[in-house]
Amino acid sequence: MAKIICVLYDDPIAGYPKSYARDDVAQPEHYPDGQTLPTPKGIDFKPGTLLGSVSGELGLRKYLESNGHQLVVTSSKDGADSVLDRELHDAEIVISQPFWPAYMTAERIAKAPKLKMIVTAGIGSDHIDLEAANTRNITVAEVTYSNSNSVAEHVVMMILSQVRNYIPSYNWVVKGGWNIADCVERSYDLEAMSVGTVAAGRIGLRVLRLLKPFDVKLHYTDRHRLPESVEKELNLTHHTSVESLTKVCDVVTLNCPLYPETEHMINETTLKNFKRGAYLINTARGKLCDRDAIVSALESGQLAGYAGDVWFPQPPPADHPWRHMPNHGMTPHISGSSLTAQTRYATGTREILECYFEGRPIRDEYLIVQGGKLAGVGAHSYSEGNATKGSEEAERFKK
Ligand code: NAD
Repeated sequence: MAKIICVLYDDPIAGYPKSYARDDVAQPEHYPDGQTLPTPKGIDFKPGTLLGSVSGELGLRKYLESNGHQLVVTSSKDGADSVLDRELHDAEIVISQPFWPAYMTAERIAKAPKLKMIVTAGIGSDHIDLEAANTRNITVAEVTYSNSNSVAEHVVMMILSQVRNYIPSYNWVVKGGWNIADCVERSYDLEAMSVGTVAAGRIGLRVLRLLKPFDVKLHYTDRHRLPESVEKELNLTHHTSVESLTKVCDVVTLNCPLYPETEHMINETTLKNFKRGAYLINTARGKLCDRDAIVSALESGQLAGYAGDVWFPQPPPADHPWRHMPNHGMTPHISGSSLTAQTRYATGTREILECYFEGRPIRDEYLIVQGGKLAGVGAHSYSEGNATKGSEEAERFKK
């Protein structure tokens, strides 16, 4: 019998939904590169229901309990008195979502001598000290591709909302105004702008493809160059450095993982290499950017806008300056947790658990760390190290 701790975000403040806005949830037959959607032997939830919050339990309870395992589901994850900390001592598996991450620091991993696997129900395992996981031979797996296209849609929405000044214009309507000049004094067309992505993996490449019909000039940098055929198809300009890309782009979107080399890649110095009035969209990870440098760049006008849904830590304290900086379009971390995406990553989590308990290999594309080293997508997209430093500040959200 194994004990599994599943850390999920809280239910809606009005309670777990009794009905939904739509009756079904549309899903693609496969991912754009042909990868199959998750393939567990079964699921015990209705696709399209809220699975990512505590009462949704990622639809896992029936499966785990009927196989004799113990499931603890909680949103209490930060601080020494959290349920996560109290339950860790005999846990074999910890599951959490990047939206409400269980920060698995070296200290926490040390408190869990039986821990064998940490699963990210979603994509992005930087909330785990990957170095400590390597040392302890803990497997880290995530549901690769489960929400990549969901995030790409959010990126496009945020680019358009920033460039066209959507949020302030919407707010004038709500306030009872008709202030056209106030709305349009910061409003532009996206057409003909230069848009660049830092990383052209599953999300970055999808963003490029979605933007192509807007007749923009597309740019990218990535540590793995795309095939020549894709560069030609999308008329891409490839850059060998972030600096070369930001010098020429009107819109920059970050789509690489967070690990020590990418931490604070956007900072006071690198922001000087942006075009004045550029828009920066970051749905990848908050810590890719230096928090205060972003605020200063918005205040000085070096950036015309900043939007995204990722913060550090998560949840951010009430006084986090990104809540109040000028010309921002921030949301809580939601882009990868649409009901559509939840169906996929809950199904993928079930697939990973079935493989683990039945002694079958977990798909290579789901692996971040295995056998004491980066593996699968982890070896492709990450470098060694730990990016969890400072995560204890998440406890301040409660205060
Ligand atoms: P992916 O593994 O398909 O792509 C990552 C790409 O980043 C790879 O092509 C890799 O070569 C590139 N890369 C790595 N280091 C780089 C660097 N220093 N400079 C340039 N490129 C670099 O992953 P994905 O599905 O595209 O997701 C990317 C990231 O987005 C995740 O790691 C996660 O942090 C974030 N994400 C956020 C959400 C959300 O809900 N906001 C959801 C999913 C993923």
